[in-house]
Amino acid sequence: MSEIPAVTEPEHRGAVLTIDLDAITANWRLLGGRLKGAALAGVVKADAYGLGMEPVAAALAAAGCRAFFVAHAGEGMALRRLLPEVDIHIFNGIAGGGAEDMAEGRLIPVLNSLGDIDAWRELAGGLGKTLAADIHVDTGMSRLGLPPDEWEVLTADGERLAGIAVAFLMSHLACADEPEHPLNRRQLETFGRAVEELPGTPASLANSSGIFLGTDYHFDLARPGAALYGINPCPGKPNPMAQVIRLQGKILQVREIDSPQTVGYGATHRAGGRELIATVDVGYADGYLRSLSNRGGGFFGDVRAPLVGRVSMDLVTFDVSEVPEHLSRPGSMVDLIGPGHTPGLTVDDVAADAGTIGYEILTSLGSRYHRVHRGGG
Ligand SMILES: *Cc1c(COP(=O)(O)O)cnc(C)c1O
Repeated sequence: MSEIPAVTEPEHRGAVLTIDLDAITANWRLLGGRLKGAALAGVVKADAYGLGMEPVAAALAAAGCRAFFVAHAGEGMALRRLLPEVDIHIFNGIAGGGAEDMAEGRLIPVLNSLGDIDAWRELAGGLGKTLAADIHVDTGMSRLGLPPDEWEVLTADGERLAGIAVAFLMSHLACADEPEHPLNRRQLETFGRAVEELPGTPASLANSSGIFLGTDYHFDLARPGAALYGINPCPGKPNPMAQVIRLQGKILQVREIDSPQTVGYGATHRAGGRELIATVDVGYADGYLRSLSNRGGGFFGDVRAPLVGRVSMDLVTFDVSEVPEHLSRPGSMVDLIGPGHTPGLTVDDVAADAGTIGYEILTSLGSRYHRVHRGGG
């Protein structure tokens, strides 16, 4: 795993978020290498999990990705302007509106109910065209997708899909990151039966973790998001994915305090003796979650220093008493996530400290960072 280079240009005034597009495409290729015959899409919803949909999708397309998934029609329209020829699938489908725009933009909505199917068929009829769509059959998530009774109605009536070119029959796994969970097998079996009931239709089941459940789960198209962005698809095992982001804050001030003093809002940290406190220019308004208060850490060079006191809106404080002075001066940078190798903090490490998952850390990353996208050519 290679280090994500630090940004050293003197004009950068504050915190820097570096996004390694080459690591994303390397992750995409690594996942593709695990598939035997299935195609590999890229999930770029929510601004590519907070990392920038446009640069990420452009890099994936340059690496050979031909199918993309987003959640909203608006995301799909933005992606269509960037990539005129790729397949763009819309997880949330047409229930939120925008069906005409999706047809116009050649977007592929995921139809999540009989009502969606009827509306899309009628739109196709009205336009006198065949329109592509995915059909989502619910196999145990109970969130979106046709429930069993609607699935029965659909398969009993061949005319229901008139004018709809079904791109993929899809479903979504609830527990793919827990390989031993019995629901995985049950969903696989239910999905396998549905695939047989719609013969000739390509199928898609696996998200990032689903790819690691075995080839049975791969079908014709896998749809990873998280693993592309460095989140471990196999929790509890070594992470096969390259780290993608490095978040560096800048030290604004270093303060020597003595034992009767406390640090930060709520006076939640009390110095045990003489302590050096470094104040860094990142806070919860930047998506550096407040739940990291008194729990997280930062790397000053190779030296980890504990986060002390509460994370405030724009600032966070570390006890740098044990950090060599040349690494903890005002103006020097601290790795809050990264640098991409050990020692350092992965997205999953920070998520564990914050009591959440890597997905939430990434999608919370704020807009105030100086963002640098590297590679991707
Ligand atoms: C977000 C999403 C994915 C991607 O999941 P990851 O766990 O990020 O790989 C795949 N399928 C559906 C339906 C999704 O909503």
